[in-house]
Amino acid sequence: MIYTFPPAPSAAVPIEGSEALFPVRRIWCVGRNYAEHALEMGGDPDREPPFFFGKPADAIVPTGGELPYPLATQDLHHEVELAVGLRSGGSGLSVEQAGAAVFGCAVALDMTRRDLQSEAKRLARPWDMGKAFDRSCPIGAFRPCPGAPPTKGAIRLTINGEVRQSGDLHALIWPIADTLAALSQLVELAAGDVILTGTPAGVGPVRRGDQLRAECDAAPALEVRYA
Ligand code: MN
Repeated sequence: MIYTFPPAPSAAVPIEGSEALFPVRRIWCVGRNYAEHALEMGGDPDREPPFFFGKPADAIVPTGGELPYPLATQDLHHEVELAVGLRSGGSGLSVEQAGAAVFGCAVALDMTRRDLQSEAKRLARPWDMGKAFDRSCPIGAFRPCPGAPPTKGAIRLTINGEVRQSGDLHALIWPIADTLAALSQLVELAAGDVILTGTPAGVGPVRRGDQLRAECDAAPALEVRYA
């Protein structure tokens, strides 16, 4: 194969305890998967089935970096989330099959240009410019949990040492395997797919100079700083 110019390198995420990297194929995110966050965003946690949006694979940012404040926003928000990486896939998966497809867990940030997302909601336009922008998916290393996504465990975000978001995976409206099974009714999943499973309550603004630390019992911590 000859390309007219070199293809972009595949996005990849470190794996705890391994020299190997997890190669990222696609990133999917779940909207409103914790009741308190659904309420703070004006939704109804009892009625809404899971819905999904995407980010480009190259939105991945590894832990430890300093990030530029994103373009075109005055209201960058943090959403700490458990991410799962898949080792296999398929479409129309049962909950059991979907759970078996999981490779491991990482803690991630679904960074959001809230002003652009709010405008898109108001005008019934796509969310891409609010959600799928450059460096919008900082993610820590994967911790392998093959075939066994966690059903409980604390998840937390601190900014400059102050707790801003704190939740537990047991409060997910749609557990991880159920979420993956639902997504597989819409798109074919495959090894390398990364799914962010929703954020607990407490989303809020990130300012220049802020140091973000995301922690989850199920995965190694993530730290990034905004320049
Ligand atoms: Mn989110």
